[in-house]
Amino acid sequence: MPIDKPDIKSMLPGELSELLKSCGQPAYRAGQIFTWLHKGVASFDEMTNIPVDLRNMLKENAYFFPPIVKKRLVSGIDSTVKYLYELYDGQAVESVLMSYLHGNTVCVSSQAGCRMGCTFCASTIGGCERNLFASEMLDQVLFTQKDSGRKIGNVVLMGIGEPLDNYDNVLRFLNLLSHKDGMNLSLRHVSLSTCGLVDRIRQLAKERLQLTLSISLHAPDDKIRSQLMPVNRKWGIDELLDACREYIALTGRRISFEYAMIAGVNDSDACAAALAARLRGMLCHVNLIPANDVRERGFKRSGALRIKKFSEILEKGGLSCTVRRTLGSDINASCGQLRRAHLEEGGNRLED
Ligand code: SAH
Repeated sequence: MPIDKPDIKSMLPGELSELLKSCGQPAYRAGQIFTWLHKGVASFDEMTNIPVDLRNMLKENAYFFPPIVKKRLVSGIDSTVKYLYELYDGQAVESVLMSYLHGNTVCVSSQAGCRMGCTFCASTIGGCERNLFASEMLDQVLFTQKDSGRKIGNVVLMGIGEPLDNYDNVLRFLNLLSHKDGMNLSLRHVSLSTCGLVDRIRQLAKERLQLTLSISLHAPDDKIRSQLMPVNRKWGIDELLDACREYIALTGRRISFEYAMIAGVNDSDACAAALAARLRGMLCHVNLIPANDVRERGFKRSGALRIKKFSEILEKGGLSCTVRRTLGSDINASCGQLRRAHLEEGGNRLED
């Protein structure tokens, strides 16, 4: 069900002003409407400095669909909140709100589903239904902030989907998020995680954005990585790391490598030594993630002692490394699981 009206929340002020001008409206209205949209209003009637007939014209002629909170799970352990948002066509995506000492972070989904096929991940099980619009990514930030009353200071594109597989909309979302008349969030407070689409990493490098690029590496060699991540059969680790070096050279930004620790698969001392050898000398950081058990997948996370030993080997090998704290473990806070449960319960789906 494609939308047949202009998606005004995906527009930058210049585009909005062109649209309004073509309807005979003064250009300055664009700034006012942009500001209201980026405050997360639930209807045009909240735009109190916009004349009623213009509000009515927008109601008739613009696409506007604030996401519906289908589920809100609040962790009893650490105040993490997981949202299941329903979109205009019945698709559902997850966003996770995490509170740290340095502020509140929202984890945003970029697609309804994912087509990358990583074998340990719940998000990809049903494939990819569709790309999210820029406005739908922005809404996850705006409405999570509004619903929770917690000011969002950081955004991570680490939810459902592969952000670089929805490149144009994701870039537009980043432009909107960092716009001075909108949330004005510096891209230094944004991380984008990719499974390693090498052509898109090279393209992104040329944008010279100040965001943090996270690479889901998860293995020290092609044999293990190709078993876990089909994308590695297209671009192997050497090609991926070459693109990362180019990214670092063009942006000056440190890359973060994500490494989900899966018992007996990628967590041996030999894996740690091989990883350290491969990444040595790069401007990078390694984030070890105790793998989340996904019911459908049968993988088990590595034990705490194993993870500690692994991180010690990396550090001895000269790498900077942290073990990610597990948040929201009582609410299945890793992405993809709530959407799956929703689909299994017969939740609304796009009728093909
Ligand atoms: N498609 C992007 C972003 C989405 S996933 C990517 O691949 O990076 C966000 C992170 O969660 C990725 O590093 C992904 O590999 C990881 N992940 C997925 N399933 C996981 C699981 N069961 N346990 C731990 N990490 C997982």
